[in-house]
Amino acid sequence: MAKRDYYEVLGVGKTASADDIKRAYRRMAMKYHPDKNPNDKEAEGKFKECAEAYEVLSDPGKRKQYDQFGHAGLRGAGMHDYSKMRWQDIGSIFEDMGLDDIFGDIFGSRGRRPRRAGPARGYDLETTVELSFNEVSQGTEKTIEFTRQDECLECYGSGCAPGKSPVNCTACGGSGQVARGGGFFQMVSTCPSCRGAGKIIKDPCRKCRGTGRVPKKRVVSIKIPKGVHEGQGIRVSGEGEPGRSGGPRGDLYCYVRIKPHEFLERDGNNLVAVVPISFTQAALGDTIEVPSLNGKQRLKIPAGTQYGSIFRIKGQGLPDIRSGKCGDEFIQVAIETPQKLNARQRELLEEFDKVDSNGIFPQVKGFIDKLKKAFK
Ligand SMILES: [Zn+2]
Ligand SMILES: [Zn+2]
Repeated sequence: MAKRDYYEVLGVGKTASADDIKRAYRRMAMKYHPDKNPNDKEAEGKFKECAEAYEVLSDPGKRKQYDQFGHAGLRGAGMHDYSKMRWQDIGSIFEDMGLDDIFGDIFGSRGRRPRRAGPARGYDLETTVELSFNEVSQGTEKTIEFTRQDECLECYGSGCAPGKSPVNCTACGGSGQVARGGGFFQMVSTCPSCRGAGKIIKDPCRKCRGTGRVPKKRVVSIKIPKGVHEGQGIRVSGEGEPGRSGGPRGDLYCYVRIKPHEFLERDGNNLVAVVPISFTQAALGDTIEVPSLNGKQRLKIPAGTQYGSIFRIKGQGLPDIRSGKCGDEFIQVAIETPQKLNARQRELLEEFDKVDSNGIFPQVKGFIDKLKKAFK
């Protein structure tokens, strides 16, 4: 999907000031916050889109690149692909970038803690995998291709040009934190010069522009257990983004989407199909063909079958994800009334109607009697 213009995403003009941008982002982030829009994937997508726009427009360097070259200008700038990040991590991502003055109301007190230098676990990523009903039934193995930020092999993740190393930040003395205010109450916050890293890169690596990260394609094979449900996530340990300062990698969460089936609908572990039959088949009984996961199969319909009757085929549903025990398939019949009768068909039905119809329709007589009684 094509990326939208970042100014448009935040609803600000190209000349917006840093304060305008911060205000606009705060407003949008509150509006689309997943806590306020539970189970709303669209709002979650917008929340992430706003975060990405804010990362760029709040950073004078990235904003300049974007203004000049558009989205292409940010390629290789070590940007996260927010659409693949977990929204719960956005607070920490901003914290890592020294954007923690935005927190408070948006991310809650979690975001307030200043970033510490030292090892930190990498961020989790998320992706989706689409499965057919048959794959849900059997379980499967899926190959997933995605792009993630990986260590730059040119500088081994240091972000420095060859032969150079980061120097201690003079603003914070290498601690990554600065204290503001004097006397008894001091506010400790992330150092704005080094953004909490404690070190500053004077000669950046040209390949990764000093970020130590480059986007890299990754292919992983994921085992999907049978019986999974729409929206379930499968965690693939250690396939997320690399950690900081030797911390472990994050994980990859693979969310399941299930493709609709042409005939079958899922209800828990059961499958349901609606099958039309003619009124004569219903009256006389017949053997009909019905859909199942293993192709079509035969089902006996007894004479006198009523509209909406449900037939159960035991054990032909989907397996339970824990026990493996299969649900059932339910066939519901929809009886059709013929339309556009020809003269001969009409004649036959009229004749049928003349022959004593009393008592052959199970509900009609009782209904008429009840109606008479109620409105006499
Ligand atoms: Zn590098
Ligand atoms: Zn510093």
